[in-house]
Amino acid sequence: ELVYLNGDYLPLTEAKVSVLDRGFLFGDGVYEVIPAYGGKLFRLEDHIVRLNNSLAGIRLTVPHGVADWQAIFQPLLSAGKDQYIYLQITRGYAPTRDHGFPETVVPTVFAMCSEIKPFPGKSAGIKAITLDDTRWQLCNIKAITLLANILLRQQALDRDCAEAILVKNGYVIEGAASNLFAVIDGELITPPKSNEILPGITRDVILELASADGIPCREDIIALEGLQTAEEVWVASSTREILAVVELDGKPIGTGKPGPVWQRLDDLLQTYKKSLS
Ligand code: PLP
Repeated sequence: ELVYLNGDYLPLTEAKVSVLDRGFLFGDGVYEVIPAYGGKLFRLEDHIVRLNNSLAGIRLTVPHGVADWQAIFQPLLSAGKDQYIYLQITRGYAPTRDHGFPETVVPTVFAMCSEIKPFPGKSAGIKAITLDDTRWQLCNIKAITLLANILLRQQALDRDCAEAILVKNGYVIEGAASNLFAVIDGELITPPKSNEILPGITRDVILELASADGIPCREDIIALEGLQTAEEVWVASSTREILAVVELDGKPIGTGKPGPVWQRLDDLLQTYKKSLS
């Protein structure tokens, strides 16, 4: 199984980075997760736009266009399989550990490919808990510095829940590693893009598919009480797709089963994926 590292393709066990890499010492880097269905990259352009925004957000430049990235990823993909590319770019090796950027920056660029496994228990829906959003103020950057997200997700797992839904000033923001949707009075609502959330590609796709299908939808803030009494709650990400939250903080959402709007969007998403692969 080959991975990509700084221009080379090599076995995973031979891919090595210096312990002085700023990704290792500071978490100084950004990443992307790009699904590929049937061997074809899904919404690659959107992922590269977001990557470039993340890179700009940390003042790092990598001179690759969409076609360059496509060429880098292609040898990692297998035809006919559902996989995802994990791409990580750090500010690279620096001769001394110093917070300030090094004089000469040579980014470390790493990509590997993994299988997408269907989320177990998807059809039954998932349990989630709400937690205070302990992250920083630049959540729009897809930074590799994920300590807060990891601690939040683990708290959810410790309580037999698949996701933590993050709350800020009484409003629900997104999941520890997902965007958030609610169906309230028949309307599909998701919090607007801001520095408080990661602009998810799955989120964009859901809004597009819902609009095209005539499902009323809107980007708006959602109060915690609004979420608790919603007809449906979902979390969405590239690797888990759309999951219905059927229990929040130990209480049922709606009927306690995945709802009809979730079922419709999941059907639309599966059809859309097939049409592109
Ligand atoms: N929000 C956060 C914090 C995430 O980590 C992720 C993805 O892992 C998402 C949202 C969903 O983004 P995407 O749909 O592009 O995978």
